[in-house]
Amino acid sequence: MSSIKQIPVITERKGNPLARVFDEFVRFCRSRSLFILHYCTGCGAIELPPAMTSRFDMERLGIQPMVSPRQADILLITGYVSIKTLKRVILTYEQMGSPKYVIGICSCTVNGGMYWQSYATAKKLDEYMPVDLYIAGCMPRPEAVLAGLQKLMDRIHSGEANSWEDYFRNYDYYLGNQQKLFGENWQTPTDIITEAKHYDLIGEGTLGKHTQLLEQHQKPLEALDMRLGHDLKEPTE
Ligand code: SF4
Repeated sequence: MSSIKQIPVITERKGNPLARVFDEFVRFCRSRSLFILHYCTGCGAIELPPAMTSRFDMERLGIQPMVSPRQADILLITGYVSIKTLKRVILTYEQMGSPKYVIGICSCTVNGGMYWQSYATAKKLDEYMPVDLYIAGCMPRPEAVLAGLQKLMDRIHSGEANSWEDYFRNYDYYLGNQQKLFGENWQTPTDIITEAKHYDLIGEGTLGKHTQLLEQHQKPLEALDMRLGHDLKEPTE
């Protein structure tokens, strides 16, 4: 039996056949076990119950709903996004762990759809966060939703679904569009720049004039003052 000292230390993954097989295996497992967080923003959400339940049954593909962004892999945006809702969508996206994927369902997420003239609706989702895949239609049927999910699975398996890295590499662009819509004081609880450093994804577009603006007004988050039961009256006899 060979001693552990004889096992070579893998210092460079590139070109190493063992590392390549391991990476392939990880990508295969990742693509076959996906939790979706469906943020039901518009009418397209009505197609998700049939996609999830017995007739189309997305769980047979290894995909199932998840209630928390912390454990979700895919964020499904299912229709038009109002400006108020977009703030919550961005907060949710930033709380998801990486790697994470976004699917825009419905034409409204692509270009505003029939709300393209609305003053209250964000027109292009990918100006505010990276989108891996759009499923166009008004509204797309469950077959189209499943075909889109399968496409994303293939892209994850082949290592092409890396748009989450773009949020870190070009954070200044996304933040600039967010500031344009929500005002210069816009900030979220997540420290994206520190996360970008953690993943070693600081790019030329990570820092810029918009992140400088953020630093000028960013306040440290304070813990919420919990007052549960504070105003409850003493029971009377
Ligand atoms: S594309 Fe059609 S179905 Fe989808 S959110 Fe827009 S209006 Fe509703």
